[in-house]
Amino acid sequence: MPRSALTALDTVQEAPEHDPAFLSQSLELAPDAVLAVDGENRIVLFNRAAERLWAVPREATLGEPLERLLPLLHDADGNAVAGSEIGQAADDTLTATLAHADGSPRMLSLRAIRVSTGIETLWVLFAREVTDQHLLQERLQQMLLMLDNSNSAIFVTGPDRSVAYVNGGFTRMFGYSRQTMIGQVPATLLAGPDTDPQLCERIGNAIARRESIQGEFLLYTRTRRPLWVSLAASPVVGEEGQVLGLVHVLTDITRTKMHQVMHEKVLNALVRDMPISDVMTLLCREVEHISPEVVISITGIDAENRMRPLAAPSLPGVLSTQMTGTAIGPRAGACGASAWHGRAMLIDDIATHPACEPCRHLLLPQGLRSSWSSPIKSSLGRVMGTVTLYYREPQEPNELHRSLIDSCLHLCTLTMEREQANERVHQLAFYDTLTGLPNRMMFSAKAEQALANAGRVNAQAAVLFVDLDRFKLINDAQGHSAGDGLLRDIAQRIDGEVQELHITGRQAGDEFVVVVPHCSAEQAGSLAERLLGAISAPASVGIMTLHPSASIGVAMYPGDGRDIELLVRHADMAMYRAKREGGGTFRFFSSDMNKVAQERVSLETALRDAIRLEQLRLEYQPQVSGCAQTHIHGVEALLRWQHPELGAIPPGRFIPVAEESGLISELSLWVLRQACVQMADWRHRGVPIPRISVNMSAINFRDRALAGLIGQTLSEHGLAADDLTLEITESVMLDPDPDVLGNIEAIYAMGVRLSLDDFGTGYSSLSHLHRLPIHELKLDQSFVRDIETSAIARTLTTSVLRIGDSLGMRVIAEGVESQAQQQFLAGQGCPILQGFLFSPPLCASALEHWLDRNQCQAATTA
Ligand code: C2E
Ligand code: MG
Ligand code: MG
Repeated sequence: MPRSALTALDTVQEAPEHDPAFLSQSLELAPDAVLAVDGENRIVLFNRAAERLWAVPREATLGEPLERLLPLLHDADGNAVAGSEIGQAADDTLTATLAHADGSPRMLSLRAIRVSTGIETLWVLFAREVTDQHLLQERLQQMLLMLDNSNSAIFVTGPDRSVAYVNGGFTRMFGYSRQTMIGQVPATLLAGPDTDPQLCERIGNAIARRESIQGEFLLYTRTRRPLWVSLAASPVVGEEGQVLGLVHVLTDITRTKMHQVMHEKVLNALVRDMPISDVMTLLCREVEHISPEVVISITGIDAENRMRPLAAPSLPGVLSTQMTGTAIGPRAGACGASAWHGRAMLIDDIATHPACEPCRHLLLPQGLRSSWSSPIKSSLGRVMGTVTLYYREPQEPNELHRSLIDSCLHLCTLTMEREQANERVHQLAFYDTLTGLPNRMMFSAKAEQALANAGRVNAQAAVLFVDLDRFKLINDAQGHSAGDGLLRDIAQRIDGEVQELHITGRQAGDEFVVVVPHCSAEQAGSLAERLLGAISAPASVGIMTLHPSASIGVAMYPGDGRDIELLVRHADMAMYRAKREGGGTFRFFSSDMNKVAQERVSLETALRDAIRLEQLRLEYQPQVSGCAQTHIHGVEALLRWQHPELGAIPPGRFIPVAEESGLISELSLWVLRQACVQMADWRHRGVPIPRISVNMSAINFRDRALAGLIGQTLSEHGLAADDLTLEITESVMLDPDPDVLGNIEAIYAMGVRLSLDDFGTGYSSLSHLHRLPIHELKLDQSFVRDIETSAIARTLTTSVLRIGDSLGMRVIAEGVESQAQQQFLAGQGCPILQGFLFSPPLCASALEHWLDRNQCQAATTA
């Protein structure tokens, strides 16, 4: 109330009672607008407040009809009341609407009193502007309406913590009516088994501090359905700081929370590498926790479309047992049918639905009446499994269930794809991609285990090392994909012969190893036989049919070694022996093999030292003309190694070691250089030696630089290309490596001669002979040796001579030791002879003496 009005009122109160002047002045100064109308409804009194309210001077209104000031009146029920009917509305609160100058409405509240003056009856109207209260009221109503329509549950508690107000959102969310809630302490109704027990305390503490509280809590509806809510409670504090009440706003976040919790738990489990069935069980428990009215199961579907139950924590185990391995199909239960159709399936009545035929006898006793199955699909759309919800009533999935299953399916896909990826990684890491057999790492781990088991019961075990014969040739000649096909085929054949407990692995290339636990040497022998038989069956490789064969080495546990590494090494040695003895067979490991192998290793070290310490030298064996032995065709340089402790080591022993260890490149170049030095020296001193032959290994020809190095060495020593002959073996001719052919051609183009050593012992192919630029054939010693005793040797010798003739190649007979051999060879027209009969290999000076002694001269034949 404005101060001036109060002062005015104070003034009035001091005036004497029943004084008419005082009364009219009181009316004049009253804070409410006061106006009076006579029996004809004409205005007879209009006080100052009325002047302010209507913004018209009294003079302009006195005597005017009331309707002019109050054209529209309404009673409390909203009925229109005309100004002339004011008498009938006496004692009622009326409302009138006026308009501001800007047209906005003004609300007046009026009350009419009948006053009888004795002369006439007047109607006195008390009016007050209530526009603000009216607007407030309107807004309040709107607000309540809004609150009721809000999806958030809102309730207000008073200072005693009992509920004073709940909105419609609350009744909808929790299912309690307003009447039930009013006066209740909310926690008694809303808390449940998993509600944070500290919730009430936390709210209480917050109130004590006059602070708001916010958090996520699990509450329960009237039907005891768990509900995750986000709660914001704010205290309403009075002017004196006292808490008048608390406003609680709750939002249902079950869905968000459910997604978040499920995601968090599952992802956590995946990060910790939990087994898939544990992850799925966790997921099931979470769903059953959120929606306790359902029972859930998760089933995987394997590549053969068979069911693999993963989790069903609330279903009897026998159901999973029955399902395991069952093929999916329209009548294979809810899961099987949904997987079969590739879409969600609702089984409205388990008791009658045909799909439930095989499992209803297990489900019905559990009180389960209906189910809803959805397929779990991979990102590529393949059905990997199903998620099934079972209900205790015949019902359809509600919105919460659908949303739960949506989340579940997503997480199941993630888990299953991850499992598959893990399996793939496992497969790649531990299995050979070509054959699918355990790789070396996996094999070793399994084999160690098997040996340890055998050791515990004092049992024997066998390790079989299988190596294909001539696989490299097949691979090179037929191409790698053909080679791969053959290896796959062989792996299958081996697999077909071994038993479940045997461990098969692919070591490398064409090597396979089989560990046979609890196996005697005899049994190992017969398994090796069976394997050889299986492997040697014809195999189609590309358009060819091959007759593969293998060499097998067998080592026995514990006699030949106690750990798998040693056993495999020993079996490998035995295999090597089998291979050296012609292949297609098997050998048992023996300790002498080990000795040989150890010797090889020490020989290799010694050979490295020998090269460095110059313990190597060359000897030269003359090659003489078949008709006149004083005519020298050339000399063959042969390598000699005099070891300070081991004595003379023949090249037949150390050359293979050099070849296997890679030392051969260095060694051959050393020989070549040494031979050229010697040849240059002879040339320089006029010693009559027309040419020098140097033995080359097949491996040397794979070195692209070979031809270049030869050319360079010759020119460094001032020698012509035809001063040098390179002796190669047939394996060089068969080598498919394009660099080998490149070298042969470049060497030929240079003018250096090529001689085919040990001719007749390998897989000579006449077509190759014909195609390659070979100058000379060296008939192998084995033919020459048997000339006197074997007609076959004689026939073969004659044939080689004829082949040489017809291909325009000179033939040298090696290893001529006797007169008879010499006579036969000379008789057959063999142009050149080499052997102890004429001279053993000699050092350079001894050879020079030999030449002098025999008055030799250089042969004129080219
Ligand atoms: P090869 O090239 O066939 O050499 C001929 C072998 O026969 C030599 O043995 C030689 O001493 C021997 N020999 C010669 N005349 C007679 C004979 O009348 N009767 C008998 N029983 N043997 C005879 P060696 O020197 O022990 O060489 C053996 C093999 O070692 C050679 O066979 C050759 O393949 C290889 N070799 C020798 N030196 C080298 C070399 O510098 N480099 C390469 N890559 N291999 C070499
Ligand atoms: Mg030779
Ligand atoms: Mg030879």
